[in-house]
Amino acid sequence: MQCSVQTDVRAVMTKSFSTFFYLVMAMAIIFSANVRAEVIVQQLANEGFILSDGKSTRVMVDGMVVEPYSVYGGLPPELIPAFNSATGPFADINMILVSHQHHDHNQPENACQFMQKSTKAILATSSQVVDLMREKCREFVLTSPRIQIIDPQYDQMETLKVGDASVNIFLLSHGGGKYAHLNNYGHLIELGGVRILHIGDAAMEQADFKRAAVADMKVDVALIPFWYFQPGPGGGMVRRYLTAKHMIATHIPPGEMAEVKEYLKVEYPKVLILENVLDEARFGQ
Ligand SMILES: [Zn+2]
Repeated sequence: MQCSVQTDVRAVMTKSFSTFFYLVMAMAIIFSANVRAEVIVQQLANEGFILSDGKSTRVMVDGMVVEPYSVYGGLPPELIPAFNSATGPFADINMILVSHQHHDHNQPENACQFMQKSTKAILATSSQVVDLMREKCREFVLTSPRIQIIDPQYDQMETLKVGDASVNIFLLSHGGGKYAHLNNYGHLIELGGVRILHIGDAAMEQADFKRAAVADMKVDVALIPFWYFQPGPGGGMVRRYLTAKHMIATHIPPGEMAEVKEYLKVEYPKVLILENVLDEARFGQ
């Protein structure tokens, strides 16, 4: 399993370089068509990602976040028109998964906009997420065949197929107290022979991870909220349940990025951070 990371350089390029940039991108695409299969993991806002095989299948997880929420980031302004029209980096999404209803993971009005502009994306998520969207685009939510409510149980995960991807959706608690009623879904996505895990805002509860059998999932790439790596119970959770070949720390507030990067470099030097929206890492066999 190999991995390479590519930083989004567009932010630092002047306009006069843009033609050159697109030429290089085109050459990269032509070149990559002739090499081994790989999966591209691309960072969006907060804990949002697009997972792609670079060919037929593109799966978005927690990606319909546009505005900053609390301390968590949104999309850079220059990318919002592409999001609103489901074009450019946001084009050709086959399936959209949402872990839970919190606004740093899904923004109902933006989700309505994206789903209505997309022609083929299927949204598969909890009734809680869909209920909040219904308040913003009632007619669409009630009539679109592209909205699919799923209801996995601890002893029964849901499995969906889309394009060349297989998606397993399972329950992982967001925690007790005021969050006890919340459905938080974990997603194990297999694409191009690579197994990628996204856990949403799963609470750091050993019993819950055990119940969901996360340790047996043979994960290649784990997308993990950064607080799992901070001092406390997270380290043990990572060692016992999230032992993946590759780990990417995510859900990092922009205001804490420098500090988190510095800390991980010392304590978890192998953990990747995709710092900017559209930064990506490639994983291949
Ligand atoms: Zn949450």
